[in-house]
Amino acid sequence: MQTERLLDLLDRHRGAMQTAMSLLLASLIAGVYILVYMTGGIKFVYSHSMYIPILLSAFVFGIKGGVLIGLIGGIALGPFMPIDVVTGEMQEMANWLYRTGFFLLIGFLSGVASDSVRSYIKNLAWLSQHDISTRLPNRNALFDRLSELGSEKNTSDSWLLVVISFENMMELKSAFGFTVIEDAIRQLADRFDSIHYDNIHVDKLIFHTATAQISVLIDKGDRETRAILGELVEAAREPIRFNGIPIHIDIRMGTVAFSSAANTPEIHLQKAEAALAVAQATVQDSVAYSPEILNVTEENLTILGELKDAIKEQQISMHYQPKIFIPTGQVHGVEALMRWKHPKRGNIPPGIFIPRAEQSTMIQLITEFALDQAMAQIVRWRQLGIHVPVAVNISTRNLLQPGFTDQVLKFLDHYGLEGESLELEVTEGALMMDMKRTIAELVRLAQLKVIISIDDFGTGYSSLQYLHELPISLIKIDQTFVRRLPADKGAVYILEAAVMLAHKMGIKAIAEGVETEVAYEFLSNIGCDIAQGYLISPPLPADEFTRWYTQRNDQYVLPLKKPKHGLS
Ligand code: C2E
Ligand code: CA
Ligand code: CA
Repeated sequence: MQTERLLDLLDRHRGAMQTAMSLLLASLIAGVYILVYMTGGIKFVYSHSMYIPILLSAFVFGIKGGVLIGLIGGIALGPFMPIDVVTGEMQEMANWLYRTGFFLLIGFLSGVASDSVRSYIKNLAWLSQHDISTRLPNRNALFDRLSELGSEKNTSDSWLLVVISFENMMELKSAFGFTVIEDAIRQLADRFDSIHYDNIHVDKLIFHTATAQISVLIDKGDRETRAILGELVEAAREPIRFNGIPIHIDIRMGTVAFSSAANTPEIHLQKAEAALAVAQATVQDSVAYSPEILNVTEENLTILGELKDAIKEQQISMHYQPKIFIPTGQVHGVEALMRWKHPKRGNIPPGIFIPRAEQSTMIQLITEFALDQAMAQIVRWRQLGIHVPVAVNISTRNLLQPGFTDQVLKFLDHYGLEGESLELEVTEGALMMDMKRTIAELVRLAQLKVIISIDDFGTGYSSLQYLHELPISLIKIDQTFVRRLPADKGAVYILEAAVMLAHKMGIKAIAEGVETEVAYEFLSNIGCDIAQGYLISPPLPADEFTRWYTQRNDQYVLPLKKPKHGLS
């Protein structure tokens, strides 16, 4: 590291150093000449002192310097330097030529060594500041640049950091291989670099800060942020070319504006990335950082951190929401829905913690817990003479996790249950992630007679093309359509089509989120098989469901009465 700093110092003050060094070398050569002469001539050992200026020159100036000083040193101790000053005996030519040759060799070799150390160090320094694949400055370079900004400006928010990610990275990678990402980054970086605002080239620096992520640091002055972002979006909209094929890159942006870099430059990137995460989650082109965003991110992390203990400490439990057969009014089964009663925060809805758990491996614990609880509950109900299959929600990650089916089998074995008593609700989006593996996994589960249903049907990427390949028994039409019944024509058409599709495939259709009697009646009229929703019952704790079920069986009437329970 010492050498690195020294070489860096030499490089930075090259001009002054060169002059000073040249003077020093000249004096050293003259010094050695005088030393050799004064000590009686070349026959004594002092001539070796010439190695000092040669090595020094090679270190500072590389090969050229080493060779040049080797030559000058050789000549200085050459034809004009006697062997013995007292007798005046001169050297033979071969003698000084041989010595000069030796000096040249030493100068050359030490020059080579110094040059390669220099280029090695330069390479290391370059590598630490650049991405090798795209040759663009990397995250470190951005941090360095941000810390340099520290003292430069102190007025309004004149700097803008924009973090841009590729939303369709996985798709691109699987279709064209990894190099498409590098190519796209390079092409977009070039485009961003040449953007002009109001015909003026604005200072901006472009960094490759993560696999499919570019960061642009813009000295925006008092230009409008919206206009700058608009230009970036526009530049990215134009397809990139990969092996001659036009490819669309779907980008999201997180931005943060600031006047000077804080003590920790990382904080700016962290803020912009937190804003980017919001843009990704809410499917917006760009989101600007605001303090609440970081609070939410922090909350996300603490929630995840607490989730594991919450399971252990029994803050988490399952509620069960009945599903009924529309034609007969009988209970078809229940859906197990997770509830978290946090000691400080109160009830945390699954819509808050499940999506966060799905981003991490915590979802495996969650699903394991749900399966375990649901099956234990089936056994308890059976002992009371209640036979209802329980549906458990599973996430994408579960299906792609190796050994998931074996885990389900293990639970069934443990509780002595047959496959039919368990239903798994899989969302449409989950099915589309890795069709081949998902189908294989679902087929295995279906062979165990586990019931598979497609949840939130109509909201995901349409899996219509694959629907007939999937071993599913139920299509669960999303509540956003059901809730708009019967006034919304679009919802009506979708429901009719979904019910017809299910029946053509020989499976059943279930409507979730049934809140009103008109909706229930409509569903009944179009031949929808099963209904679930607050009209029938909200999700209930297990023992409340037991009461609900028994009461219902005792005084069975149609049409349904409005629920007495409040929302859970
Ligand atoms: P989901 O699977 O679509 O579950 C249905 C959601 O609709 C539940 O919300 C349920 O309480 C609610 N709901 C039922 N009937 C009605 C109604 O008539 N009107 C309205 N407005 N809502 C109704 P919840 O319990 O808050 O769960 C939200 C989501 O969290 C679930 O959506 C599911 O995706 C997820 N989730 C819940 N429990 C689990 C679990 O154990 N594992 C996994 N992986 N996800 C779960
Ligand atoms: Ca569900
Ligand atoms: Ca659903």
